[in-house]
Order: sequence, then C-alpha cells, then structure tokens
Amino acid sequence: NMSCKKEEKGRNIQVVVRCRPLNSIERKSAAHGVLDCDQGRKEVVVRTGGFGDKGARKTYTFDMVFGPSAKQIEVYRSVVFPILDEVIMGYNCTVFAYGQTGTGKTFTMEGERSSDEGITWEEDPLAGIIPRTLHQIFEILSKNGTEFSVKVSLLEIYNEELFDLLSPSPDVNERLQMFDDPRNKRGVVIKGLEEVTVHNKDEVYHILERGAAKRKTASTLMNAYSSRSHSVFSLTIHMKEITVEGEELVKIGKLNLVDLAGSENIGRSGAVEKRAREAGNINQSLLTLGRVITALVERTPHIPYRESKLTRILQDSLGGRTKTSIIATVSPASINLEETLSTLDYANRAK
Ligand code: ADP
Ligand code: MG
Repeated sequence: NMSCKKEEKGRNIQVVVRCRPLNSIERKSAAHGVLDCDQGRKEVVVRTGGFGDKGARKTYTFDMVFGPSAKQIEVYRSVVFPILDEVIMGYNCTVFAYGQTGTGKTFTMEGERSSDEGITWEEDPLAGIIPRTLHQIFEILSKNGTEFSVKVSLLEIYNEELFDLLSPSPDVNERLQMFDDPRNKRGVVIKGLEEVTVHNKDEVYHILERGAAKRKTASTLMNAYSSRSHSVFSLTIHMKEITVEGEELVKIGKLNLVDLAGSENIGRSGAVEKRAREAGNINQSLLTLGRVITALVERTPHIPYRESKLTRILQDSLGGRTKTSIIATVSPASINLEETLSTLDYANRAK
C-alpha cells in the first residue's frame, strides 16, 4: 500500500529548506533573487529562466520551508522541538544541515552572537540550534523532576580522519581511531573521544567556545577546513526512571547535530562532479550519507553505512526507530542557481 508506506517514510525522515537573505555583496553586484519561498504551501519556486511571467520555473515541495526572514527560534521550534520529545523518550535522533558553503549551515546549527554586548547567549535571537537545544534540555528535565545527566562530544571529520574538538590535549593534529563496538551491533567506539558532562546550562557556552577555539586552529593547519569538514555535535542524556513496579530503569537518548561539509562538489545527479574527482576532492562521507539516505528512503535491504566515517559514527542514529531531519540551506542569488538546484534535488530525493 503506497500511501501507507509514504506516511511512514514521512515520520522518520523530514526534509526542510531554509533560504538565507541576499547578502550585501550579492545586492551590490548584479545578482538578483531567483527563489520564492512559500512557508504556508511549503513550496520553493525557482526562477530558472530569467524574469517575467514567461520565465521558466521549477517548484519543489518539502515538509517545511523557511524563507529569508525566518527567525532562528522559528526554525528551532518547528524542526528541533518535536525531535527533543523523542530523545527524552530514549531514542536516537539526528539533525543535519546540508548545503553549499556560505548558505547558512553554521548559522542554523550554531548561530551567532548579536553585536549588542549586553545580551546573554541564551536570550540572543541569533543563537542557533545547538545552544537552544542544550538550554531547553535542562529546562525540560529539571521540571520533570527526573534524575538525569547530560554529556556532549564534538567530533570533526576532515578527509576521513577524526578530530576531537573537546579533547584537553592542545595538539590539534591528533587523530582518533574508531572500532566496531563489540557490545553493540550498530555502534562504534571512538577511542579517546572526550565526552564532557554538562552540569547546567551555563556550562554549555564554555564548552562550545573551547570547541570553537580548536576549530580555528585546525582551519589554519588544514586546507579549506571549514568547508570540507563535517562537525558532529552529540548530546547523550541518561535519565533515571522508576517503573510502576518500583524498579529503577535508565533510559538513554541521543541527539546528533551535524553541520556537514559544503555540498559544492556533489552534482545534480548526486554523484561527485568530474572536476572535483580530478582534483582528488571527493568527500567520501558526504557522498555515502546521500547513498545511505536514499537507501533508507527506498527501503533497500543493504544500507551502505560502513562506507564512510560519518555514516559509521551515525549508524545507531539513522534508520530504524530514529528520527532524522535534514535542513537544506540555499542562497536566493542568481549566481548560485546551479548549486541551489543541486541542493534542492538532493533534498528532494531524501523525502
Ligand atoms: P555555511 O556554514 O553554510 O558555510 P554560514 O552559516 O557561515 O554558511 O553563513 C554564511 C553567511 O551568511 C554568514 O555571514 C551568516 O551570518 C549569513 N547567514 C546565513 N544564513 C542566514 C540567515 N538565515 N539570516 C541572516 N544571515 C544569514
Ligand atoms: Mg559553516
């Protein structure tokens, strides 16, 4: 039964699009906007053939669409808040930001600080998904009266090598090794990965700043680090529960917030573009993620999790009874049209 299958798909993988505003460089140059976002109809209309009523148009429909004026809180409330419920019930979930470099992946996942000095991080309207999530986790769980603990890790994958942004070691070049977990068929063990216990919401900001400082150093050492690396922020919650029989039970929920490498080398077909391939510029993790998502959507029996570091790390949080949201970020400018169509096609295949 097709309609039933479709409904079930929709519940586990959600695809949303967020379009940033035209930036000042684009406004100054001859670039014009070629995207129309209709939040109500959940549609993105791309003017592929110039201006006017007669110009060619391509319309895409997604689970949600956020236009250039959508606020951080709106994206957080509609995309992440429902997922938090699942995490608190003890499931593993993942939110990805996917898109061309410069379209707002980091703005969406981490956010920025307003220039107004007096504003605290938690009331900053520019705060992104990561600080908002941590803040809210503490709010919800303290109100529940449950005994709980929160641990976070921040791992980055660059050129299929793993870097720990929260490790106490000052050596940014240190790579981590990964093994299959002998106790968990769908899991891996990342040897030496720092998992930091967060005691209260105020500690979060120091941890994130520590990560940001390391990332800055890494980007001076590795070529195009910020556009080619994947950043995986994972949050694990242990919650104590007393059953009706009076037994003590520990529920574990996990949320991965992933800021992916720039998608500019992935072509419209979902394969690596020829010029990127020739330059040896293949992002194995990004490519495999696309294949894994396609396999999950199409319900292929073999899911190629093992073919990249990113998908091995996320294997226990993709597919099955987990929830995945993909936020595809795009630019509205005519000069980015090809990349925008590429991102929208990718996102469309994940529905
Ligand atoms: P990416 O991580 O995809 O490379 P960034 O998040 O760094 O892109 O965003 C690029 C620039 O665009 C930044 O200066 C950011 O402030 C701005 N920007 C991105 N998305 C938005 C948005 N929705 N609203 C306002 N500014 C945005
Ligand atoms: Mg970024």
